[in-house]
Amino acid sequence: MTTDPTLKAAASSSPVPLDLIIQAPKALLHDHLDGGLRPQTVLDLAAEFGYSDLPANDAESLGRWFSEAAFSGSLERYLKTFKHTVGVMQTIPALTRVARECAEDLASDGVVYAEVRFAPELHIEQGLNEHEIIEAVLAGFAEGVAGAAAVGRTIRVGVLLTAMRTAANSRHIAELAVEYRDRGVVGFDIAGAEAGFPPTRHLDAFEYLRRENAHFTIHAGEAFGLPSIWEAIQWCGADRLGHGVRIMDDITVDSSGSASLGKLAAYVRDRRIPLELCPTSNVQTGAADSIASHPIGLLRKLGFRVTVNTDNRLMSGTSMSHEMDLLSQAFGWGLADMEWLTVNAMKSAFIGFDERLEIINNQIKPGYAVLNSELVERMSR
Ligand SMILES: [Zn+2]
Repeated sequence: MTTDPTLKAAASSSPVPLDLIIQAPKALLHDHLDGGLRPQTVLDLAAEFGYSDLPANDAESLGRWFSEAAFSGSLERYLKTFKHTVGVMQTIPALTRVARECAEDLASDGVVYAEVRFAPELHIEQGLNEHEIIEAVLAGFAEGVAGAAAVGRTIRVGVLLTAMRTAANSRHIAELAVEYRDRGVVGFDIAGAEAGFPPTRHLDAFEYLRRENAHFTIHAGEAFGLPSIWEAIQWCGADRLGHGVRIMDDITVDSSGSASLGKLAAYVRDRRIPLELCPTSNVQTGAADSIASHPIGLLRKLGFRVTVNTDNRLMSGTSMSHEMDLLSQAFGWGLADMEWLTVNAMKSAFIGFDERLEIINNQIKPGYAVLNSELVERMSR
């Protein structure tokens, strides 16, 4: 942070111009591999592998179909759009291509660190085994990272293995996450319909991971409220909360605007438990009414460890830059806020502390310093 008043004014000015947002180094902790395909890739893979159920046959209408279907207001309906992306991700070349393009797309959006998650058990329809699936995805990410480096962009991608909370396979997937932890997998997650499937259903997997000194996040507090968050933290020991936006149910704001925290909300804030907030996705599933009224504004003011994420770039028609742009416009956040959010995400990442510091000090801080100077320059014109 700077003490120069001109630089300080630039860093806090908003909205931040979109081209600077795109250039700014960003970190992403919550992004689903099967929610981020390019529409054209869905079409190509469907043609290549004989998948005939797609609801549109050109990239533009297909992209639109996904985002319209996703704006349903219900998590269950939102999740149904994944039938088509998962449907075309059933072979090794398809998985590798999707992972490669994911890394390339994130890098060209200015993301310098990403944790991307997927559920191996969703990709076995045509006979692949879980090892083949994981290795195909890791190979794709390695190709994408190398491709990005070849055009001068540095990105690191870590994989989270997801277990479906509606299934009974989580202990096995947790074991795979540990098996592959020195080969690109950095953590574990559970996802899928939240109501009726509490985190403690998978306690065995979480206890195993803790004994193995492994990291995990849990989708909790999105479609279901405080009991889910409480179980994720106090029973399961989650390092982070996937969404966690419903922690708002434990915060009361009086007519004068002053907020008081219940015991669970205070615990989450005081223990610095990261919230993987996904503003556009939360609006789509009805977890928030609009970006402007999204709890991220208040949670930030109250000192929660807030991070910004994309969730599903295809279904939400979004990117990290788009989320940052929406927030800059809705809350008057400037480059300094974006840098704070990005450092928050890096502090919460599942890679080693030394590796996190390296990215913060060598990519994020110098990157924002350059953009701040650029903005000063523009403001003085
Ligand atoms: Zn998610």
